[in-house]
Amino acid sequence: MKILKEALDILFPQCCLICGKMSDVSINKVPVCKKCLADMVLIPKYQRWQFCLSEPYKGDRYPGLPLYICFVYKGKVTDLIHRVKFGQRAELARMMGYLTGNSLKADGVFVDAVIPIPLSYGRLMERGFNQAEEMGIEISRILNVPVLTGVISRPKETKRQAELTDDSQRARNISGAFSFNPNYSVYGMTILLVDDVATTGNTLHEASSVLLENGADNVLCCAFAGNRTVKNAETY
Ligand SMILES: [Zn+2]
Repeated sequence: MKILKEALDILFPQCCLICGKMSDVSINKVPVCKKCLADMVLIPKYQRWQFCLSEPYKGDRYPGLPLYICFVYKGKVTDLIHRVKFGQRAELARMMGYLTGNSLKADGVFVDAVIPIPLSYGRLMERGFNQAEEMGIEISRILNVPVLTGVISRPKETKRQAELTDDSQRARNISGAFSFNPNYSVYGMTILLVDDVATTGNTLHEASSVLLENGADNVLCCAFAGNRTVKNAETY
């Protein structure tokens, strides 16, 4: 079997799923390359926890929600996320979950369950998979807790947050986007809410609010990458 695999590798060399050049390393069985990995900037351990909203607002019912970010959203990390979303590479999203899950585990994060940020039905049909859900499955496996995918849904079709430049537009766009499925209970639970990218934090904050309103004890947000110039924590 090993010989067959080696022969196949020579005949059909695998390409890095991020840059398309020859792969020389794999992460969680996903072929990538050392050059791409070297370009991905891991946020130092003491700067990974931030506050969820980059622009806290007066009257926020859940101020100071914690957000954990692994990588700086630039360079090859941007390419990687672009490949996931527009190249329909679900395995890359699972790799992102693998890296995030291992980072959370190494940093001693304990939760009762993982909930991925859902996509709207239209966006899910367009992409064929939910990148946050693919990440959540890997994270739940690494943290050894369940992943709950039907608890919150996204009935409202919203614009892509990245298309909106103004913070208040982003907050309005996402407001009321999520609904809670009453067939589930998150009462008393500490939930890890997962998304691929966090910029203003509005999406994670809105989904957290829905979980907290429905009995969750605590919500920790996490994202594979973030690009904010942090106003409420140390910059990186
Ligand atoms: Zn590469």
